[in-house]
Amino acid sequence: MVTNEFKNYAEAAIIHTYNRFPVAFDHGDGVYLYDTDGRRYLDFAAGIAVNAFGYNVEEYKDALKAQIDKLMHVSNLYYTEPMAKAAHKLAEASGLKRVFFTNSGTEAIEGAIKVARKYAFKKDGTTDHEIIAMEHSFHGRSMGALSVTGNAHYREAFQPGIGNIVFAEYNNLEDVKSKITDKTCAILFETVQGEGGIYPGEKEFIQEIRKICDEKDILLILDEIQCGMGRTGKMFAYQHYGILPDVMTSAKALGCGVPVGAFVVGEKAENALEPGDHGSTYGGNPFVTTAVCKVFEMFESRGVLENVNEVSAYLDEKLQALVKKYDVVKATRGLGLMRALEMNVPVGPYVNKALEKGLLIISAGTHIIRFVPPLVITKDNVDEMIGILDKCLGEIE
Ligand SMILES: *Cc1c(COP(=O)(O)O)cnc(C)c1O
Repeated sequence: MVTNEFKNYAEAAIIHTYNRFPVAFDHGDGVYLYDTDGRRYLDFAAGIAVNAFGYNVEEYKDALKAQIDKLMHVSNLYYTEPMAKAAHKLAEASGLKRVFFTNSGTEAIEGAIKVARKYAFKKDGTTDHEIIAMEHSFHGRSMGALSVTGNAHYREAFQPGIGNIVFAEYNNLEDVKSKITDKTCAILFETVQGEGGIYPGEKEFIQEIRKICDEKDILLILDEIQCGMGRTGKMFAYQHYGILPDVMTSAKALGCGVPVGAFVVGEKAENALEPGDHGSTYGGNPFVTTAVCKVFEMFESRGVLENVNEVSAYLDEKLQALVKKYDVVKATRGLGLMRALEMNVPVGPYVNKALEKGLLIISAGTHIIRFVPPLVITKDNVDEMIGILDKCLGEIE
C-alpha cells in the first residue's frame, strides 16, 4: 500500500482520469505482482487482460532484449523482418488476409472505422454511410472509438462524435435488423462484451449477422481486443462461432506488455485502404512486433489454449459454487478465462478487500467482478483466488 505522501506526489503531476488503487507495483514473477513494500499479490487482472503469460518470462524478455540491441524503430517508410513476420503470424492465426499494426486497441478501432468508410465510399462515392454499434459496448476513448462506444456517460461531454453511428441492443437480432438502412456500411461489436459486463455473443446473433452482412455487402467488424488472443480458449473468440469477420481488431495480449494493436482485414476489404489513406509513426516497429512474434510462438510451444480450456472449466465450477453459497452473488458467466461474477450489490468494497488480502481482481461496471487472469494460471492459482474471494464475501456479508 502506498503512503499518502507518495500518493500526493504522484497525483500532483498526473491528470486525474483514474481513481487508482492505493498500491504501487515494483515487479512481477509468474502470476504474482510485488508492491514497493515487497508484498505479494495473486494477479487475476493481468494488466486488464494483457499479460497472458504473467511476468518475468525469460523467453519473452530475452527476445525483446536482443531486439533492443539490434533495432527499435525505423518508421513505416521501410521494411523490417519482425513486422513482416508478425503480420503473417496474425493473418494466419486470424484466418484473415492483411494487417495494419497500431499502438493501441483504440487506434485499431479507428483503423477499422476508416476501412468501413473507405470501402463504402469506393462503392458509391458518397460519404454519409452509417455504422451500427452496440449498447454497453466499449471500443476506446479517442473521438472515433468513443463515438462507437455504447456508454452514453463516456460520450456526453465530448459530443459531437464522428456522426452516423446508430446503436442497437447487443444479442438482439431484430433490433440490429431494424437499424440497417441502405447507408449501413458496417456492423461493429465485441465478440464477447468486456467492459459492458462479460456478455458472450449468442451463436444465432453472430451467425445471422454474418449472413445479413454478406447479403447486403456490409462489413462485419469484430472487436477482439479483450476477448481475442486465446482469452476464450480459441485464438480469436469468433472461432467459436464458425464465422470470419471482414475486419478484426486486436491489442491487449497481442504484445503481452508492449503497446501494440492491429486491425486485420479479410478478402473483401483487403484493398479498401490505399497508399496515403492511413499511417502511424511507431505502428508495428521492430521492437513491438518482435514481441508479437514471440507471443505467437509461445502460444504454440506452451499449449496455452489447452490450459485455458482446462482451467476455465475449473474456475467456472468454483464460481458457480460461490453463486450457490452467497445471496449477494447473483450469477456467473463468461467464455474461457474471461469470466464475470455478477452481484446484487456494488462490487467496489469486495475488490478493495481482495487487494488488502493480496488478490487483484477488477470490476466491469458497478455490479460485476471481472476475472481476466494470465492464461497460464493453474488450478492451484484458482483455488488460491477462490479462497481469498470466499473470505472477502464472508467478511463483508
Ligand atoms: C481495452 C479495449 C479497447 C481499447 O484498447 P486500448 O489499448 O486501451 O486503446 C477497445 N475495445 C475493447 C473491447 C477493449 O477491451
